[in-house]
Amino acid sequence: MSTLTNGDFLKFIQTFSERLQDAKDLLNNLDNRIGDGDHGTNMSRGFAAALAKLQNSDTSDISSSCQIVAMTLLSNVGGASGPLYSTVFMKLMMQWKGLEQVEDAQIAAGIQAALDGIMARGKAQSGDKTMVDVWTPVSQLCQQQEDSLDWEQIVETAKHSALETKDLAARKGRASYLGERSRGTCDPGSISSGIFFESLALAFAKGLEPIPWHTLAS
Ligand code: ADP
Ligand code: MG
Repeated sequence: MSTLTNGDFLKFIQTFSERLQDAKDLLNNLDNRIGDGDHGTNMSRGFAAALAKLQNSDTSDISSSCQIVAMTLLSNVGGASGPLYSTVFMKLMMQWKGLEQVEDAQIAAGIQAALDGIMARGKAQSGDKTMVDVWTPVSQLCQQQEDSLDWEQIVETAKHSALETKDLAARKGRASYLGERSRGTCDPGSISSGIFFESLALAFAKGLEPIPWHTLAS
């Protein structure tokens, strides 16, 4: 049984923000090869701002915390990833409204709602070499496991699907301008999504080894 309280949510955003800071150069380098080189800067700036806002707010409810993150990302992150990650937290806010804490089935429902939001906003499908390629298999796995989420398996799925975007040709986003030539580089938004699930999992599975993203994805 996984339980996420507002305090756990704050720790998740803190971990995600720290790991994005560590992965900033990696994400910028990947985006430099197939986009405009700003994904690491966008993400680390956005989540540092979101963390600061959360720490300065006195909200004790997880849905309001999601709303703060969503609004802060929208006003601090340009590019495609700002609105897309903002949508993630907006959908989590709606899904978790009125709940003191969230458990497996609501976490699975939140992830599915977030994926639906990403796809509605970005119009990407599976296989287009975007963050959808991570969120889709993770959401499918969570739907199967909604009675008892297995975080090690979730992290493994997020990791593999993020790394597998290397072989795809982009059909959405900036990388689609390169088409076939985008093969051979991991999609930066998929790697940041892998880090998202890795950071979330740390709220539940304490002994997880950190994923060596630098070695695997660069
Ligand atoms: P920008 O492309 O505007 O510079 P970022 O570099 O911050 O924004 O983010 C790029 C990432 O956003 C990509 O790696 C991809 O995962 C994701 N992305 C881009 N367009 C879409 C889309 N239409 N649907 C889903 N994800 C997308
Ligand atoms: Mg970019």
